[in-house]
Amino acid sequence: MCLFNPAKTPISVLLALLLGAVTAQAGAQVVREGARLSPVTNQQRTVPGFYRLMLGKFEITALSDGTVTLPLDKLLTNTTPAQLKKLLGRAGVDPQAAEISINAYLVHTGERIVLIDTGAGSLFPNGGRILQSLSAAGYSAEDITDVMITHIHGDHSAGLSREGKRVFPNATVHVDGRDADFWLDSSNAAKHPNHASFFAQAKLDLSPYLASGKVRRFGASDELVAGIRALPAPGHTPGHSLFAVESEGKKLVLWGDLIHDMESQFNAPGVAISFDVNQSAAIAQRKIALNDAAAKGYLVGAAHISFPGIGRVLADGSSYRWLPVTYSETGLTSQGKRR
Ligand SMILES: [Zn+2]
Repeated sequence: MCLFNPAKTPISVLLALLLGAVTAQAGAQVVREGARLSPVTNQQRTVPGFYRLMLGKFEITALSDGTVTLPLDKLLTNTTPAQLKKLLGRAGVDPQAAEISINAYLVHTGERIVLIDTGAGSLFPNGGRILQSLSAAGYSAEDITDVMITHIHGDHSAGLSREGKRVFPNATVHVDGRDADFWLDSSNAAKHPNHASFFAQAKLDLSPYLASGKVRRFGASDELVAGIRALPAPGHTPGHSLFAVESEGKKLVLWGDLIHDMESQFNAPGVAISFDVNQSAAIAQRKIALNDAAAKGYLVGAAHISFPGIGRVLADGSSYRWLPVTYSETGLTSQGKRR
């Protein structure tokens, strides 16, 4: 039974009730707005990344492994603090803590499903996302028939193995014989003290595949599967390789570590990095590759250019410009077409 009868309730009580209702409604509004204005740091990550495009009959998928933050001011060589300040500063890049993409590439040729580089595994706090990105793109680790490694450095090869086991159990790993010979020979560590940690990492990454007979060492300019050819580009490491992917007259060249920092090395290709085993050879290979890509207009994919790291190169006097691929929601536009 309701004891509340508006006709018999004093006006002051009605006003108090009405005011209370209004106040409660206003309170609810504040709560709703409060919920909408939750702290901006609530969502700290983006989703696992993939970006797809067709190259002739081949399906190309750029896969994000995440990023690594590097003190470029301490790592880049053959440059000056003033040059770095100018080149990085105008792009808003912090030379002391530059966040660098780690990209890998999946090529489905119709016959083979090829992963080119594997990301950094557990080496970096914001890396190691390759399997999430692969899954988001509709593939699993078991689907991969071939893994091609541009070179044996942890940010490209540490994703191969986890806790002594193969992450890609059905894949043959293709690696340049010179890189395998160099990094898997631990006696080289003493001769290259600045690169010593990479030798132990190389063993961790490749041993499970070596034990299973699943490593294939390739030589210069070998065609590894139909439509994908290795191109030697030694310098960054002794067997550093590019991969030329071609289908129906369309071409994409995957660059590995020819570029670590786009802002400085496109503008001044002579800028090197202390990770280069042979810096002068690495500089020479960068200049050859930039010049060739600019002259021929094919697509380029690069492990450390901002994700998806696919675009074209334009010559601009003695320097170069990067033209990122035009975003396509379907990935079906003719991205492999020469401009
Ligand atoms: Zn790298």
